[in-house]
Amino acid sequence: MEKLSNPQVTIEIIKKYDFAFQKRFGQNFLIDGHVIEKIIKAADISKEDTILEIGPGIGTMTQYLAEAAGKVYAVEIDKNLLPVLDETLGEYDNVTVVNDDILKVDIKALLGDDGENVKVVANLPYYITTPIIMGLFENHIPAKSITVMVQKEVALRMQAGPGSKDYGALSLAVQYYANPYIVANVPPNCFMPRPNVGSAVIRLTKWDNPPVKVKDEKLMFKLIRASFNQRRKTLQNGINNSSDLSFTKEQVVSALKEMGLSESVRGEALTLEQFAKLSDLLG
Ligand code: SAM
Repeated sequence: MEKLSNPQVTIEIIKKYDFAFQKRFGQNFLIDGHVIEKIIKAADISKEDTILEIGPGIGTMTQYLAEAAGKVYAVEIDKNLLPVLDETLGEYDNVTVVNDDILKVDIKALLGDDGENVKVVANLPYYITTPIIMGLFENHIPAKSITVMVQKEVALRMQAGPGSKDYGALSLAVQYYANPYIVANVPPNCFMPRPNVGSAVIRLTKWDNPPVKVKDEKLMFKLIRASFNQRRKTLQNGINNSSDLSFTKEQVVSALKEMGLSESVRGEALTLEQFAKLSDLLG
């Protein structure tokens, strides 16, 4: 069939199946072939690769993925899209559609041996961007890269460094696991229906080894979350007020002193390396 990236083809399919867009599932379908080509190029896909696509929608990007990759696993929560996908992906025998919630799927079990060469590619449902990305990292899915469309503001946060207004817990978490690179900005008119925020494609290339060494990864992330919980407060207050942590004021002040940092330093001034050091000193 003709590609769904042609808006007319998308309109016809939507009408044929009397499909009603579900806002609660973040359904904004791509209708721009150039944008999809940019995503495919940034994801650097070959026939050796298996792709995990999160939320195929009516299959617009899946059609391109099926042509470029060896295999595609597409996980879609909305069961009303299954008959549509049957038609739009009917000609591809390398696509497996799974009707499930990506936050509940056992991805390792789903991919089996194909998981070794997996790359994640998606136009993400924006309401669950962070849990999806963090789930992929924390469950140690062996994906080499994650190339995704996200809200522009979130892409900026993922890529931000210390001192920037966008820098925060998400920047540090993403950068601990991967090297982020914003590939393109995408305006609302590339989607149907149009989202009311700007979007961006970001590629997260997984590090072979984390860029910093830390004794207790979990403690470091607790410290990071606590430090950014109350943005306008000092890092010391954030840590002392956290219900997740039980360090005394003296312990925190002494660790900061040892690192050559002021008592009144804020979380946004610390690099990933400094958070790792702080965690090792407190742990
Ligand atoms: N890939 C399609 C495209 O680019 O046109 C659709 C992208 S749309 C932004 C997000 C898709 O994710 C929708 O199809 C939505 O139903 C699906 N989705 C939302 N929440 C999901 C979840 N928890 N698990 C799997 N898919 C989900």
